[in-house]
Amino acid sequence: MLYQRTLAKKVEVSGLGLHSGKKVSLSLHPAEADFGIRFKRTDIIGSPIIKADACNVGATENATTLVYQNVTINTVEHLLAVLYGMGINNAYCEVDGPEIPIMDGSGASFIYMLKEAGIAGLNRFKKFLVILDSVRVEFGDRWAQIEPSPRLVIDSSIEFAHPQIKKQQEVFDYTCENFIAEIGRARTFGMLRDVDMLKRKGLARGGSLDNAIVLDDYKVINTDGLRFHNEFVKHKILDTLGDMSLLGYDLAGKITTYKSGHHLNNLLCRKILENKECYKIVPANFLCPETTNVFGLPWAVCQI
Ligand SMILES: [Zn+2]
Repeated sequence: MLYQRTLAKKVEVSGLGLHSGKKVSLSLHPAEADFGIRFKRTDIIGSPIIKADACNVGATENATTLVYQNVTINTVEHLLAVLYGMGINNAYCEVDGPEIPIMDGSGASFIYMLKEAGIAGLNRFKKFLVILDSVRVEFGDRWAQIEPSPRLVIDSSIEFAHPQIKKQQEVFDYTCENFIAEIGRARTFGMLRDVDMLKRKGLARGGSLDNAIVLDDYKVINTDGLRFHNEFVKHKILDTLGDMSLLGYDLAGKITTYKSGHHLNNLLCRKILENKECYKIVPANFLCPETTNVFGLPWAVCQI
């Protein structure tokens, strides 16, 4: 439970890019301890690499985009959430396009990939970013904060003037099992009129009922309905987990968000990193079991 993790072997998938509508291939590769999560764009000459780092976040409209030396990789948040959710600290993610495939709009396919690859323990302790003092960011009536807690908790609230959403709140107490059961399968969502508008602008070309919950003015129009009665707020937690994983450590702190989004999540990461007295980095062997005993899995972790 205390040791850093990677994948046991390479695994590949292909799917549509949400914005381009084009097929993208994604492969995940094992990496050594303290490598972190890095993306490689194999479709660009020289195959540039972008590190998953909160300071490399560029655009945050509709999705989180990483930028480094003019190279971008879009829609990283669901994959990052799954890597964090399954306790994986180190991986090389290769893509042959500008965005991570959207799959079904949730993390379910990435969970399946990692299950197929297997998870390997590395011979080095995980490092935790332990929150010592609260940090808060606000943007209009939206806000996000993090405060001290022995383990990672995300308390998320959303409010939409839509009869199917209205007010929703969910408290997610992080463990690998809770992540897989409660959060990983929650899909992104959008309004039908917004999807039409985005398509007219040449965006969301790959967007369809196969990769999002879509709502008209009254109801969900996907014939299969919802996976959870509050799937919307659960997806917000998935996004928050992916965005906060860009801090580059396992987290010990309670995050509370109200109407948050990728922009606010990134502001919170940057404010934490700017306020060095608000946190400390601690190897897992110095922390109590309450903090570290969250990385169990329903299947075994092999040692390499
Ligand atoms: Zn999302």
